[in-house]
Amino acid sequence: MKAQIVVIAEHTANRILPVTYESLSFAMELGEGLGLNVSILILGNTVEAMAKKLAERTGGYVIGVEGEQLEFYNGEAYKAATVEVLKMFNPSYICMSHTATGFDLAPRLAFYLNASCITSVEKVRVCEGNIRLIRSMFNGKLHAEMAPATTKAVLTILPGAWPSLEMHPESKGSVHIIRTNFVPVASQTLEIKESKREKLNLGDADVIISAGRGIHNPENLHLLEELAKIFPKSALGSSKAACDLGWLGYQHQIGITGQTVAPRLYIACGISGAVQHISGMRGSQTIIGINSDPDASIFNVADYGIVENLETFIPILLEEFKHFSAS
Ligand SMILES: Cc1cc2nc3c(=O)[nH]c(=O)nc-3n(C[C@H](O)[C@H](O)[C@H](O)COP(=O)(O)OP(=O)(O)OC[C@H]3O[C@@H](n4cnc5c(N)ncnc54)[C@H](O)[C@@H]3O)c2cc1C
Repeated sequence: MKAQIVVIAEHTANRILPVTYESLSFAMELGEGLGLNVSILILGNTVEAMAKKLAERTGGYVIGVEGEQLEFYNGEAYKAATVEVLKMFNPSYICMSHTATGFDLAPRLAFYLNASCITSVEKVRVCEGNIRLIRSMFNGKLHAEMAPATTKAVLTILPGAWPSLEMHPESKGSVHIIRTNFVPVASQTLEIKESKREKLNLGDADVIISAGRGIHNPENLHLLEELAKIFPKSALGSSKAACDLGWLGYQHQIGITGQTVAPRLYIACGISGAVQHISGMRGSQTIIGINSDPDASIFNVADYGIVENLETFIPILLEEFKHFSAS
């Protein structure tokens, strides 16, 4: 079977990651626009059960590639296996999620397949057989419209940009498993261990107060904590930047590589509104952005925007609340 669009499935602990179904939604849209069929590629040591599940859910054609070196994600091994298999199918588009795995693998594949590489795709337009891929730049302040300049393209799809693919129960799909041995690669992933993290279920909170790099100093977290105390079911969230700086643990991170939340109220404090953050909180019922930059992208999604220095604004707000509750 000729595969014209191939989606590389992502999985962990024998479970297909939900982002795979989002990338499949994108691929289906692209396939419909260009009249191309979509197939799925899944790599691992034992993938048959997952491949069958994917085939049943999508009604499509799934190629499973098994090999000991594919037990855990390893860029070199995955690249070697994928390039080998893709030679048989010669697809025009190879799609994967814009995750840590996707953005490690995509440029490697593009290099070896002599393909263009367009990452973090958020929208697609197909017009008379020409495609335009749209992605954000500069934390959402600009949007770039791109088109591959080669006959083959490797694309990474921004998590949250497409809905999960709906079930196609009318067909059971089909699976083709290839067992392969590779020449040794320079490095081997021996094990992947989940880091110990304190449990925090941001999903249960009605109100999330989130800290970004704009709080400037971890000592300012107490302002956000005081703000959170006003609401009974509240929690502290964070941008990746604030976690990377060690101000909050990664269990607080919201976004494509953190948690996805949809509270009744989301207050973003000193967060610019990068697309990777927005993806994780755009489902919130009401969004308030507090940011000193009037052009910050957070205001594109905020219901209420406060252009202020948070170190000035939050103490005044807390003081006002104290007066209000005392009266
Ligand atoms: C593959 C990948 C995955 C990623 N995953 C995530 C993710 O899951 N979650 C995530 O959040 N990010 C993620 N990022 C990072 C993301 O691109 C941004 O870099 C990050 O969200 C920026 O964090 P920030 O808004 O806190 O910091 P900045 O972008 O530095 O913004 C700080 C903001 O604070 C404002 N500010 C400064 N001082 C004040 C003040 N005194 N008062 C009020 N406002 C002030 C500034 O105007 C600015 O807008 C990812 C990036 C990549 C490449």
